[in-house]
Amino acid sequence: MTEAAPDVVPCRLCTEPVAHDAKICPACGVKEPWIPDEPTINPHLMRVAMWGGGVVVLGLLVFLAGLIMFGPPAEKDERDHRPPASTRESR
Ligand SMILES: [Zn+2]
Repeated sequence: MTEAAPDVVPCRLCTEPVAHDAKICPACGVKEPWIPDEPTINPHLMRVAMWGGGVVVLGLLVFLAGLIMFGPPAEKDERDHRPPASTRESR
């Protein structure tokens, strides 16, 4: 039972138990086989991703608003463009 030892962690590639301080996995030879405790996504990158998502959502909202404001009326305008001349001449 070596995989239960505190200083042995599963390799991130082959999941074979390797020493925590091992630089190279003895089973598959990958560099730094252990996963570091600190999160892989740093806060700066997270904030950039959040801003990017916000910009994308905002752009989508503007695009949808434009579609709603300028989309349907163009079709309606063609039907209502007839001037009420006949009603004026009949009088
Ligand atoms: Zn490995």
